[in-house]
Amino acid sequence: MKALSVLGSTGSIGTQTLEIVDDFPDRFQVVALTAGRNLNLLIDQIRRHRPEVVALADGDLVATLRERLLALDPQDRPAPLPVLLGGCEGLCAAAAWPTADLVVTGIVGCAGLLPTLAAIRAGKDLALANKETLIAAGPVVLPELARSGSRLLPADSEHSAIFQCLQGTPWADTARLSTGIATPGLRRIQLTASGGAFRDWDAADLVKATVADATSHPNWSMGRKITVDSASLMNKGLEVIEAHYLFGIDYDQIEIIIHPQSIIHSMVELVDSSVLAQLGWPDMKLPLLYCLSWPERLETPWRRLNLTEVGQLSFRQPDPAKYPCMQLAYAAGRAGGTMPAAMNAANEQAVALFLEEQITFMDIPRLIERVCDRHRVDLKADPALADVLATDAWARQAVRELAAGSGARPVATAAG
Ligand code: NDP
Repeated sequence: MKALSVLGSTGSIGTQTLEIVDDFPDRFQVVALTAGRNLNLLIDQIRRHRPEVVALADGDLVATLRERLLALDPQDRPAPLPVLLGGCEGLCAAAAWPTADLVVTGIVGCAGLLPTLAAIRAGKDLALANKETLIAAGPVVLPELARSGSRLLPADSEHSAIFQCLQGTPWADTARLSTGIATPGLRRIQLTASGGAFRDWDAADLVKATVADATSHPNWSMGRKITVDSASLMNKGLEVIEAHYLFGIDYDQIEIIIHPQSIIHSMVELVDSSVLAQLGWPDMKLPLLYCLSWPERLETPWRRLNLTEVGQLSFRQPDPAKYPCMQLAYAAGRAGGTMPAAMNAANEQAVALFLEEQITFMDIPRLIERVCDRHRVDLKADPALADVLATDAWARQAVRELAAGSGARPVATAAG
């Protein structure tokens, strides 16, 4: 029985993780849950999974949660109530909860950084979905991993594919695969991208893209922020940096290719020129299950891949003019230090403004580029945690100021 702490349990990653727990009740149990603000769903999850601890990002909601749990019918009310915590400290305590064996990091954005670090410092293994943490703070996270001996198991489908492919090589050494040390025998990574909501749009039409357009992904069902990141291909750019840190591979050896069917989840080329790929239907439950069961494989009744049903697997180069975020991410990764933190925070803030219809879709890369340009003079090559946090806060503020000034146009003006 593996005990899980599920961070961001009310989100897309969190709910799919809990579905796996439901599917394998004799293999996995939940000891800790964390959420942002969705009390209704969280209460359902507490009733079903009876965790030892629950933490809410918004500490002001803890009293309401307690009252609502106490008001449940006695047969539904967990007895005793779980320990209820709030704020970042509470999230960190749930992440480092003593009885947890594995921490699933499903918080969206850099808000996941401190809880992830708390889990690593407590020596927990991680199923890493919250990629923003590694992107913003790779230079801080990797040494912490090396010190604590925690293992980072990639939950992102592409990195899970790479991880799975590398398990089949003679150099497989899981400690290396998870700490950013160069992976022997690995010559190239090909990250596949669905192309997101706009893969069949002309670049010129992107100025008219609405929130509804950007949040309807053709293949994957995910949270809103990552769905917008997929539409801009920033998600793939973030994954390039994630792959660099996870597998210790140079940026020149990481390629992005558009693969509209999302059946091949990524590929690795080895030194002898052999290419290994992992295939499956686009469903996050499979990479999540592999994180939970690794190094074992568990039998599932899930839909089997049938390539004759798929018919065709196609591939093309991404158009850099259509997807400027991709280049911004490569540039930030190559600059290193605090630059990925600045870029990631600028993206998070710009996407939030886009979702609030304060800026247009194409303002997202414009704002990120301006913030990264400004950050160049302050870049810290070998940052401490405080540098990453300061850069993150600065970049968000810079985006807000630029958007309020001349850096971006209100949606109504742009559409008109
Ligand atoms: P969602 O938006 O669906 O869920 C986010 C979760 O984080 C929710 O539980 C939310 O709580 C919680 N949350 C939001 N803000 C905060 C905060 N400030 N502090 C603490 N918790 C917070 O996101 P996804 O599940 O889609 O994505 C989660 C992470 O996984 C992201 O980093 C994403 O890039 C990554 N990922 C996601 C994939 C997917 O298929 N969804 C695939 C690969 C990676 P509440 O809703 O209660 O407010």
